[in-house]
Amino acid sequence: MAENLIAIFDEVVARNPGETEFHQAAREVLESLGPVVAKHPEYASAEVVRRLCEPERQIIFRVPWTDDQGRVQLNRGFRVEFNSALGPYKGGLRFHPSVYLGIVKFLGFEQIFKNALTGLPIGGAKGGSDFDPKGKSDAEVMRFCQSFMTELYRYIGEYTDVPAGDIGVGGREIGYLFGHFKRITNRYESGVLTGKGLTWGGSQVRTEATGYGTVFFVAEMLAITGESFEGKRVVVSGSGNVAIYAIEKAQQLGGLVVACSDSNGYVFDEAGIDLDLLKEIKENRGRVSDYAQRRGSGVRHVKDGSIWDVPCDIALPCATQNELNGNDARHLAAAGCSIVAEGANMPSTPEAIEVMRGAGIRFAPGKAANAGGVATSALEMQQNASRDSWSFDHTESRLGEIMRSIHNRCLETAESYGQPNDYVAGANISGFTKVADAMLAMGLI
Ligand code: GLU
Repeated sequence: MAENLIAIFDEVVARNPGETEFHQAAREVLESLGPVVAKHPEYASAEVVRRLCEPERQIIFRVPWTDDQGRVQLNRGFRVEFNSALGPYKGGLRFHPSVYLGIVKFLGFEQIFKNALTGLPIGGAKGGSDFDPKGKSDAEVMRFCQSFMTELYRYIGEYTDVPAGDIGVGGREIGYLFGHFKRITNRYESGVLTGKGLTWGGSQVRTEATGYGTVFFVAEMLAITGESFEGKRVVVSGSGNVAIYAIEKAQQLGGLVVACSDSNGYVFDEAGIDLDLLKEIKENRGRVSDYAQRRGSGVRHVKDGSIWDVPCDIALPCATQNELNGNDARHLAAAGCSIVAEGANMPSTPEAIEVMRGAGIRFAPGKAANAGGVATSALEMQQNASRDSWSFDHTESRLGEIMRSIHNRCLETAESYGQPNDYVAGANISGFTKVADAMLAMGLI
């Protein structure tokens, strides 16, 4: 890392003690920025990097609710509005017991660059709660969402901050959140949230967009070497929204997806994942172990062990942060894997990325490869603003174009900074310069 950037990184660590995921995300970006600040002294004199590392606004609030037994429960809510140079704050809400300020900040920080890469007018933010929707009744989830929105509504709006889903926040939660926002503000403000239902302001393809987009990105990487998904063995970690639609698109393009997972282990299905069965199980909030049981012989459920032990040509980590470590990367390399693309946010550890680099695995970071979700959210905002709704095919082809242009922008930027084929450098530099130039233009904000 360049010396002036080391000083900024040290300041980030000192100002945000204990927030290890945020430190990791910041380090990864700052490590790419050496050549950029060397070429653009104006960024240094305006302290653009230091300002970028400090969120514009951070909100933490109490979320009390009652469970089905009438007992009072308590959670903590967060919204970190990181950067609004390019547009209203935009980014999802995560409901998971692991959520604390450091996770929200890492996600919000990543979101700034990801959203810039989409080429659409959206700033970066993230929010959520340590609430665990797993095992809760619909009524409990509704009461929690209503209490959460009772506080959050003051800070959001179609021109201010537009939340959406992330881990633990899907169509059901967005419905409760939107319903309560509408009730307490007396405004049918469609553009205040994305990921809405199709009959009340949602966009076609939003549900599929993150997974589809990741696969479109990989298809672009493959095309460079004259290849395609046809006949490739693919491993997709996770079994949530991102994983399911990554599997669907990879299969549509001719890939053989042989494994997926959840927090209790992975399933290995040599014949290829039966996606209808997996979707049915997940719709009923079941586990991948149920998949193995129902699918019968030939399918293994492995409780202890890493899904990255399964040999594949293409690996798509679509579960959560730091799920693929250095050892996993070594196993992937030894088994001949040639592409890793992140459907989740920051699923690869820094050591894993180092190992992949050394082994010649082509690696697409999440802020580029999984940007299709938030890009389609921006398309949902466009449709809401014009009170229109587009067809599935039209929206999917817009998503395809956006992923192609992100891919090409990453490669062109990496090339122009002397780091050909480095998607990490390309994504970080391209996202950064767009935001930095807007911040310079707007003066000291
Ligand atoms: N949570 C998603 C992401 O990580 C989507 C955010 C959004 O649509 O605003 O990009």
